[in-house]
Amino acid sequence: MVDGKAIVDQDKCLGCGRCERKCPNEAITITLDNSSYVDELIASFEAYVDVI
Ligand code: SF4
Repeated sequence: MVDGKAIVDQDKCLGCGRCERKCPNEAITITLDNSSYVDELIASFEAYVDVI
């Protein structure tokens, strides 16, 4: 919290989007500046699970 407002630590945020889906006031929106981020994230998951 900073000055009574929640902030996201960009260095720790994984971009999972849970906060966007859960916020009842639609106060947060997730955008990805790096268009290859999703592909990189999926590739990292595929070592542990089957991604379909
Ligand atoms: S996108 Fe995920 S990791 Fe980032 S702030 Fe929201 S819930 Fe936390």
